[in-house]
Amino acid sequence: MNLIFELSQPGHGTEYFPQSDVPEIALPENLLRKSALRLPEVSEVDVSRHYSRLSKQAFGVNSGFYPLGSCTMKYNPRVNERIAALPGFSAVHPLQPADTVKGCREVMDQAKELLCAVTGMDGMTLQPAAGAHGEFVGMLLIKKYFDKRGQQHRKKMLVPDAAHGTNPASAVMAGFDVVNIPSCENGCVDIDALKAALDDNIAGLMLTNPNTVGLFDPNILEITQLVHAAGGLCYYDGANLNAIMGRVRPGDMGFDVVHLNLHKTFSTPHGGGGPGSGPVGCKQALIAFLPHSRMYEPDASEDSIGQVRAFYGNFAIVVRALSYIFSLGADGMREASETAVLNANYLMHQVAKYFPLAFDTICMHEFILTLEKVKQDKGVSALDVAKALLDEGMHPPTMYFPLIVHEALMLEPTETESRDTLDEAAEAFKRISETINSNPERLHESPVTTPIGRPDEVAAARNPVLRYQYE
Ligand SMILES: *Cc1c(COP(=O)(O)O)cnc(C)c1O
Repeated sequence: MNLIFELSQPGHGTEYFPQSDVPEIALPENLLRKSALRLPEVSEVDVSRHYSRLSKQAFGVNSGFYPLGSCTMKYNPRVNERIAALPGFSAVHPLQPADTVKGCREVMDQAKELLCAVTGMDGMTLQPAAGAHGEFVGMLLIKKYFDKRGQQHRKKMLVPDAAHGTNPASAVMAGFDVVNIPSCENGCVDIDALKAALDDNIAGLMLTNPNTVGLFDPNILEITQLVHAAGGLCYYDGANLNAIMGRVRPGDMGFDVVHLNLHKTFSTPHGGGGPGSGPVGCKQALIAFLPHSRMYEPDASEDSIGQVRAFYGNFAIVVRALSYIFSLGADGMREASETAVLNANYLMHQVAKYFPLAFDTICMHEFILTLEKVKQDKGVSALDVAKALLDEGMHPPTMYFPLIVHEALMLEPTETESRDTLDEAAEAFKRISETINSNPERLHESPVTTPIGRPDEVAAARNPVLRYQYE
């Protein structure tokens, strides 16, 4: 497919502006361009077709099944988009006098209150712009907590090896030393390894529960108690609240700080790279350290870690989240998380007929296949199967994550898919497993139905070409 620059032909651009009828003012020589502005010259209809063509090549939740584990690619009800687009929310400016945006401030206050209720926390900030940003802010809160107590020596942050890669990165950025905790055979925290790592220098533990292999850690209360007894704090990575929303609260599990990904669980479309929102909640003992904006809260706590994002954070995402919570209510949120877990278990049972599970037990919102043996026996990798699923018209699962599972494919169907869709997906896995037995070589060629086949992902990430290269 051609780039818009390649479609350009001299003279095809449309002259939109009429001749100026006021005298031209000559600009100073030093402000003038040295060379002509190189904009593509393309007619209006060709521009329109170009972008429509491009949009059809993108795959989204609205195009088909998107079981990208850990990312919660669920359908986001359109009503929440409409609410966020109301002029009272979308046509305001953050520099408007505060008394002209009282409604917006009420939205934020209500959102904080409800998110505290959902997580079992006492205070909340809406400033962080994404999950990883929330983790970083949560780490700064914990750091400040120990600074205030004169315990600067507490620098060790424990992170299980199954953690999302952003966890150790956030801890290091906040100045902690990361200590890896191995997982047990069953994918959960190894209690003995945890005990061995606990000493007077620990600041805390970062944990995801249900963890990244989709299992709820049955020892969670013991784990948080052990960390507290050693003087540490417990951080909950709540990016995937979809499995427990309305049923279990991180605060009741013993966590002190939590971040949420509103763009995963609370109805903001994502996958295109943003914008996101990663509110951070905390228990009473840390409220004084929460971020604030001196501009809007001149008498906020002196101990605050300061502002972490311009203005109020990504406000429109908070509006969607509040609209989502109100439209579901407490019962609806419980039902959503129940259905998310039910759907994952249903799909797991269907797909397990054709591919081995990494952990053969009841899962939460997601489950993992391991193709280690398939690769040994048939030479077909997790990547091959992911690519073959593209030809089946669905988005591939998350691949090669978490790192503790070899040849991993992680599926998260979410609560918004029907049983028919899950059955169709299981059929796709069945067809691929038949191909593995009859003609495994063919899978190395997948995908054959997409505009490009197998891009060099490493080169694309390391040496991205983001600008058109003129000759
Ligand atoms: C998605 C995710 C994150 C990071 O969230 P971003 O908004 O992408 O920064 C962190 N932890 C877990 C478990 C996640 O699934």
